[in-house]
Amino acid sequence: MLFDGYIKLPKLKLVKMKQHREIPSHHIIKSCTVSRTKTGKHYISILIEYEHQPVQKEVQAVVGLDFSMNGLFVDSEEGKTANSLRFYRQSLEKLAKEQRILSRRKKGSNRWHKQRLNIAKLHERVANQRKDFLHKESHKLAKRYDCVVIEDLNMKGMSRTLNFGKSVADNAWGMFTTFLQYKLEEQGKRLIKIDKWFPSSKTCSCCGRVKESLSLSERIFHCDCGFVADRDWNASINIKREGLRCLA
Ligand SMILES: [Zn+2]
Repeated sequence: MLFDGYIKLPKLKLVKMKQHREIPSHHIIKSCTVSRTKTGKHYISILIEYEHQPVQKEVQAVVGLDFSMNGLFVDSEEGKTANSLRFYRQSLEKLAKEQRILSRRKKGSNRWHKQRLNIAKLHERVANQRKDFLHKESHKLAKRYDCVVIEDLNMKGMSRTLNFGKSVADNAWGMFTTFLQYKLEEQGKRLIKIDKWFPSSKTCSCCGRVKESLSLSERIFHCDCGFVADRDWNASINIKREGLRCLA
């Protein structure tokens, strides 16, 4: 049972809570899962069920996204990169600094334990910032486009997205595409995943010629036809085109 700012859980009294999203009245609560983080915060995930048959939207605005190591993606329409936020990078720097402090503490001492808790809190903050960022980026795209085309990437090796260090084991791209998919589907829009073997980087988006090889260090795409473009942007245009072909 949910009340204004409170939740009633079995075997417990009313618990005060901060609700992140409103649950519409026609939705049925199926179950709740309570979890506790390392820093002692409690989270309740509420599973809801509802009848919703979104009307399939006619596809007009289409965008292709190329996964990018430095940003999150490069889009075919503006060649823009989704930039991670500055404060987010600052958090990562702070994390590295706190970790150095921990290494100077005597293992098992009070100060060591205290520092470990500090680091856990920072980790939580970084994870929340990342999630927030991925929600915002996927929301913008789902609002603006009727169809988003991406490559069906193998998730291995994706953890370096957004320059997260090894300390933050994550899968930003996987999380991002999951958000994107449900945000699009809710509106009767589509996410198209094209084959990962499609040569999106090696193909010239201008003349269609496919290069035999392209090393990872070549950030600018040059074609014999005279076409020159940012490597990821060229790829995102090819991804969009391939998606349109699949749609037809
Ligand atoms: Zn060309």
